[in-house]
Amino acid sequence: MRQLVAGNWKMNGSCRQAATLAEALRGEAGLACDLLVCPPFTLIDRVAGLLLHTPVAVGGQDCHAQAQGAHTGDISAEMLAELGCSAVIVGHSERRQDHGETDAEVQAKVRAAVRAGLTPIVCVGETQAQRDAGQEVAVVRGQLAASLPHDFAGVVAYEPIWAIGTGRTPTSDDVETVHRHVRAALVERLGQGGRSVRILYGGSVKPDNAAELLRVPEVGGALVGGASLSADSFLAIARAAA
Ligand code: PEP
Repeated sequence: MRQLVAGNWKMNGSCRQAATLAEALRGEAGLACDLLVCPPFTLIDRVAGLLLHTPVAVGGQDCHAQAQGAHTGDISAEMLAELGCSAVIVGHSERRQDHGETDAEVQAKVRAAVRAGLTPIVCVGETQAQRDAGQEVAVVRGQLAASLPHDFAGVVAYEPIWAIGTGRTPTSDDVETVHRHVRAALVERLGQGGRSVRILYGGSVKPDNAAELLRVPEVGGALVGGASLSADSFLAIARAAA
């Protein structure tokens, strides 16, 4: 299975910066991995237009569980699909923390994404305190059990919260341990279908650590925050993918 390198731009980027980044990505051919960028809502239309007919896919960073209605400030999965998105991140730790999103809400968003024809990328991961207490596997398994529908088809991203934007990463062995548990949990839940779910690693992936992280067994790609804001560093990570 090809690895997936996904860029989460978060709340960054002007129209001009987004256009420059998209132009640089569209020129890249022959990568051995799949590429996805997730700009903020305001830039999706522009970026999707620039990346139309290129191998670079576009996704959202979140969606509402409902298709439409009185939900001020929210965006539905159907709206993302209409703009040309093929995927959406759900349950990112910043959404869980900043907006109090629960596993049940994440599961509803996963269903919404699938209803709209999008691939959900479901984020799970432990806090520093949970890692210090040796609870990372239990936390991640609990999040998966509560966030994934029984017929889940999508992508899982393991993102230890303490590694996001900090420049710190788990060791390769630690990443492998959690990813093996994620795989086991997926197979327990989905049967053989659980074997084909890509499991991304996310948290301070940079050009200088990407090759090592992407080589870890059961790592099916990377979810990249800060380093996805520069075409040079994002593409360097993509070139490190198998
Ligand atoms: C993220 O927030 O999904 C992320 C992985 O961020 P960073 O790469 O900046 O740690």
